[in-house]
Amino acid sequence: MFSAGNGGMGKVVFVGMVVLQCCENYEMENVRACVARVFAQLGGMDRYVKPGMRVVLKPNLLNAKKPEDAATTHPAFVEAVARAVMEAGGIVTIVDSPGGPYNAFWLKRVYAQTGMEAVADVTGAILNADLRVETVLLEDGALLKSVQILKPLVDADVIINLAKLKSHMMMVYTGAVKNMFGAVAGTEKADYHARMNDYDRFANALIDICHAAAPTLNLIDGITAMEGEGPGSGVPRHLGVVIAAENAFDADAVALDIIGVPHDHVPVMRAGIAKGWFSPSSVQVVGVPVASVRCDHFDVPTLLLRENGAKPGKTLFSRFGGLLRPRLEIRTKDCIRCRKCLESCPAKVIRVKPDKTLLIDSSGCIRCFCCHELCPEKAIDIRRGWISRMLVADGLAGKMRKRDNRPPKG
Ligand code: SF4
Ligand code: SF4
Repeated sequence: MFSAGNGGMGKVVFVGMVVLQCCENYEMENVRACVARVFAQLGGMDRYVKPGMRVVLKPNLLNAKKPEDAATTHPAFVEAVARAVMEAGGIVTIVDSPGGPYNAFWLKRVYAQTGMEAVADVTGAILNADLRVETVLLEDGALLKSVQILKPLVDADVIINLAKLKSHMMMVYTGAVKNMFGAVAGTEKADYHARMNDYDRFANALIDICHAAAPTLNLIDGITAMEGEGPGSGVPRHLGVVIAAENAFDADAVALDIIGVPHDHVPVMRAGIAKGWFSPSSVQVVGVPVASVRCDHFDVPTLLLRENGAKPGKTLFSRFGGLLRPRLEIRTKDCIRCRKCLESCPAKVIRVKPDKTLLIDSSGCIRCFCCHELCPEKAIDIRRGWISRMLVADGLAGKMRKRDNRPPKG
């Protein structure tokens, strides 16, 4: 189980226990009070951090986005956790591999834009600049036998995963498990997309990577989440929640219950359940009840729900697959020709035309949405045919989600 964590502290593992707390906004006083309540319910920070320990905070630093875009873990949340760890005597380093290249120049830019630089300035936390990776062997990997992950994660005594609650065009939802994909360095991530372009295989790879990194604790910033075309181009949505659990799946299960998405519509959760790493029935929520914070109509990419295996959709999908699949198109008038999409495309299907504009060859596109995720100008459109629009417009998809919704836990 992921909940075994790393650091070998011999602590009691609260398998299945999830702390859910409300936090109205990102005002520091509120966030710090919320983080204090979360750790009190987890049994105290000293259960996890002893003086002198190297503690990695692993936020979601998807791209060089501003905090208000809701694409990255909010700096106030990172700061509040950093301060709590430091009060317990931990030495904090902020570590992530954002989308795009993994080099000093890009990291600096991402740290500045996402507010991490400011967090480091006010708290004294270290911003990781160590670009080395290390191989971790996975004897019980679902798919992978070894993974190369960022060395500071391997060297840490404690890893606190600080995920962001977002919709995800490829994987439906991203939270705690998916956030550990940032343990893989830069463009190596594209390699995983290219090799595992089936969503369920990719989900197993994500689980193995999370397993290799072995976060000790998983916190999800759901104060302002992202819905719609996440993880990079969606719309901020206020939920006002913070979720924490030792098992990344447990934290994600509660996040999904809050946004009303059945677990088996999310490839990572399906794979986790199938492999026995997660059992929905074992999740116990403490803090505020899920029912009191559940939101209506959180917009996740419903078309992909059927592509990813929902039963009625699967039948439809196998029959009309080509018509249902979305097509990605570059909006030339908004494109600044930065070529980030071209560099990140694992299938190498984006080309530069003689007039220097860019074009996506749909026939070879594996719909990983990396280009969409990384485009700084939101200049890539997702086009759907009329059949898929008809199904998605909260018709069949919405009804399916409502029908399949599980009863609240906690
Ligand atoms: S990433 Fe966006 S802005 Fe940059 S070249 Fe691609 S489409 Fe254009
Ligand atoms: S064009 Fe975009 S969605 Fe298609 S394979 Fe390339 S990066 Fe992925």
